Amino acid sequence: MPDNHEVRRAGLRHSLTDVGADAALITRLVNVRYLTGFTGSNAALLVTRDGGVLATDGRYITQSAAEVPDLERVIDRLCPEALVARARHDGVRALAFEAHDVTVERHGTLTNLAEEMALRPLGWAVEGLRSVKDEDEIALLREACAIADRALTELLETVAPGRTERELARELESRMLDHGAEDVSFATIVASGPNSAIPHHQPGSRAVEAGDLLKIDFGALYGGYHSDCTRTVVVGAQPAAWQTELHQLVREAQRAGRHALAPGADAKEVDAAARDIIVAAGYGDQFTHGLGHGVGLEIHEAPLMGYTADARLADRTPVTVEPGIYLPGRGGVRIEDTLVVRDAGPELLTTTSKELLVL
Ligand code: ZN
Ligand code: ZN
Repeated sequence: MPDNHEVRRAGLRHSLTDVGADAALITRLVNVRYLTGFTGSNAALLVTRDGGVLATDGRYITQSAAEVPDLERVIDRLCPEALVARARHDGVRALAFEAHDVTVERHGTLTNLAEEMALRPLGWAVEGLRSVKDEDEIALLREACAIADRALTELLETVAPGRTERELARELESRMLDHGAEDVSFATIVASGPNSAIPHHQPGSRAVEAGDLLKIDFGALYGGYHSDCTRTVVVGAQPAAWQTELHQLVREAQRAGRHALAPGADAKEVDAAARDIIVAAGYGDQFTHGLGHGVGLEIHEAPLMGYTADARLADRTPVTVEPGIYLPGRGGVRIEDTLVVRDAGPELLTTTSKELLVL
């Protein structure tokens, strides 16, 4: 997709004027990948007004030539240093850099190498560009979500009292890999019974018991894009009244959050659309995290949607909507979808049923 990458680099060039720079040094690997397609583990990118140079090390000579056929390459283990020297040599006067990524130590080294060339913080410019996806990126995300849905459907058929959280997590992960995931999006959360009240529980040796809530938060990685989905079910018995109440409430809040997704919507207000329902039912203090987050090349990325969020949603922005209520010692419910904000209404990518399934 060299065309896409050049379009993205053109987007970055627009922000150079804002920061008073005539070139940018990109050091965050995920941002280098976004702007070039390079997937190796060591690289940096120099974006100038009329071109770009990718730096990587000797392990990636062949891979970088294949993945980034449209840019000049420099082979040097110290990628940022090589590109600062190159920028100075080419007459760049002010170089923007990713201050949120460069260590204090490395900044000292780069400043020395820059000599008369000014170094200016670029800010989160590339992350800002990344929040709005092109259709090729959305297609990858759609496939990541479809893989995860298929794996969950299969797993749910095997859930039964006696199986441990770890077993279920490993099985779900291996089913995602079988269906074509290149990896998991993040360490799978399988939380049973009282553990379901822990938002980010690590699956352990606890065996699922009849009457447990079982919360599963998981995702597949496909083409570098992360899916993210949570479902909560009941195992081995009809749900207790409090479990049904919690699930209905979270489901209603999640629906309100999804319906609030629109281009131009204030992220704080999307959070409020869901949160207000949970607060009104008296569980505000038990909804202990933000409503959702952007998702793409990273599992958590811009825009974050919480009650202090400062962002506006845009067309073609994938986000999660994931309210939860957690009652310590008893259990918790979270329901999470990955969706794409669109002018015509949000596109749902995680399609597994949100009913309170009894397995
Ligand atoms: Zn999740
Ligand atoms: Zn999430």
